[in-house]
Amino acid sequence: METPSREGGSPLARLYEWSRPYHGLYLLSVLLAVVGVAGSVLPYVAAGNMVVAVLQGRRELGLYVGWCAFAAASYGCYVLFHYASTSVSHLATFRTISAVRRLVATKLARVPMGYVLDTPSGTLKNILVEKADGIETVLAHAVPEMTSNLLVPVVVVAYLFSLDWRLALVSLATLPVGALALGQMMRDYESWYGRTVRTGNEMSSAAVEYVNGIQVIKAFGRSASSYEKFSTAARNHARSYIDWMAHCQVWSDLALAIMPATLVGVLPVGCMLVSAGQLAPETLVLAATLSLGIFPPLYAALSFFDSLAQVGTIVGQISGVLDEREQRRADDGAVLPALEDVPGIELSGVRFSYGDVEVLHGVDLSVMPGSVCALVGPSGSGKSTLARLMAGYWDPDAGTVSLGGRNLTSLSARQLADEVAYVSQECYLFNDSIMENIRMGRPDATDAEVMEAARLCGCHEFIMALDHGYQTVVGDAGGHLSGGERQRVAIVRAMLHDSPVIILDEATAYTDPESEAQVEAAVSRLIRGRTLVVIAHRLSTITTADRIVVVDGGLVRASGTHEELMEECALYRRMYLTHRGARDEAQEGE
Ligand code: ADP
Repeated sequence: METPSREGGSPLARLYEWSRPYHGLYLLSVLLAVVGVAGSVLPYVAAGNMVVAVLQGRRELGLYVGWCAFAAASYGCYVLFHYASTSVSHLATFRTISAVRRLVATKLARVPMGYVLDTPSGTLKNILVEKADGIETVLAHAVPEMTSNLLVPVVVVAYLFSLDWRLALVSLATLPVGALALGQMMRDYESWYGRTVRTGNEMSSAAVEYVNGIQVIKAFGRSASSYEKFSTAARNHARSYIDWMAHCQVWSDLALAIMPATLVGVLPVGCMLVSAGQLAPETLVLAATLSLGIFPPLYAALSFFDSLAQVGTIVGQISGVLDEREQRRADDGAVLPALEDVPGIELSGVRFSYGDVEVLHGVDLSVMPGSVCALVGPSGSGKSTLARLMAGYWDPDAGTVSLGGRNLTSLSARQLADEVAYVSQECYLFNDSIMENIRMGRPDATDAEVMEAARLCGCHEFIMALDHGYQTVVGDAGGHLSGGERQRVAIVRAMLHDSPVIILDEATAYTDPESEAQVEAAVSRLIRGRTLVVIAHRLSTITTADRIVVVDGGLVRASGTHEELMEECALYRRMYLTHRGARDEAQEGE
């Protein structure tokens, strides 16, 4: 039912693809960097020539001033072009990162809603914000600087060869040894880095759990063990870095010590050649000075290999989201036949699994247009999963879900959103005013229309009683309202949206019977003239439903009116009597 959207390619190839619109800017930045780096090498040439002039006994002041001016101008040129190069590459990079973020955000609108709900919000936020930022170093710095810094040693060595090939060769003698040490440093890189990522994720989860659960933690006096869990995760994370650094430090220090020691080869060999009369002393001085210019840019270039490897991991994580299977839906822009005014819902042979665990095993179910259908069943029987499939949050693995006789896959996402409103237990409210939260249901609604919808649902009074009425800001995810109040605001939002089909996952519990009654009143106003599917946790509220469907173990066991089921379905009868018994006991206790 779902269409794959996998693109292959190595991480760097994908990065190359994502930055394609800005390749021109990157090329410009590399060219500017090359000119800049050439400017950084020229002072070495000037210094070499000045030493040669000294050795030759030349005394013209103008000559030295000229070389100094040349060196200063070259260096100025380096600073200027380096600045221009990094500015251009940053411009290209921030545009690329913004494009990647938009890609991920657009993708999230196309993957099953259930995937978004099931992925910890911290993970997706992390990918959209921190991970995307992690690309910055590589793209903005590595592209121009690595290219140009690799070019400089090549130019210097070529120049050395033009002076004396033997000196050129010995000046390179330390590089293979240094490279071997660097190779050792990078050994098992993936596994070292993977360990820091894993311990970092464990620490994030422990932190989120500790902070979010602080209320429960305090209530049950579990702070010590929860804190312990977080602090162990933090220690493990630190340990993974310490171990990795200990491994790297030895080899990187060794490489740092060996590689720049070009004079170790150049001086003795050069002196021998000079004493054998095969080399002019001036050439030795010039070659020795130049050989000192090989290593610094090379080391600068090498330091980017580390970030390249890291960015590979980041790109892999971003690609993980971008490669998620998309839901098959008609294009939003497509001209689609309109559905009937109040469509019904039909499920036929629906099977569905979370990962490898099948939780619906072939469900057939039809909800007549304009009727009220209640899903009941023990906890974990599959009611919420059915509701989510009806709302198109997931697609079934087998079988079909149809709305008004049309398979959901043939509807566009917008059409589905217009037709079906899903009001769940965890209805999300944005950290904005109640007015704006309700208006999400229909963005062009006027304030008066928002209030009218609230009145129709019997919520106007409770909203007006809040500190700032409709302008009350509800806090992150609606945190400043009670569960019942949140669901009532979500019901008004659905009312304003005016979908002909409502799927309501009743809240399992309300803090007080009054808000329970108010939510029920809001629902009964909301459903007039619509198709309603309600997951009922309190069976007393659904005895008047047109049809009650008993779900158990991922299958529909029975369906009918309350009276019919009381007659024919032992499971329903048992559940109803248990529920009524509990309710009566509660009432007696009051
Ligand atoms: P109900 O609404 O009747 O309580 P659900 O539809 O929530 O039942 O759950 C049906 C089964 O699917 C249960 O075994 C539950 O543990 C499992 N389940 C529900 N949601 C998920 C999920 N997001 N990931 C994995 N398993 C899930």
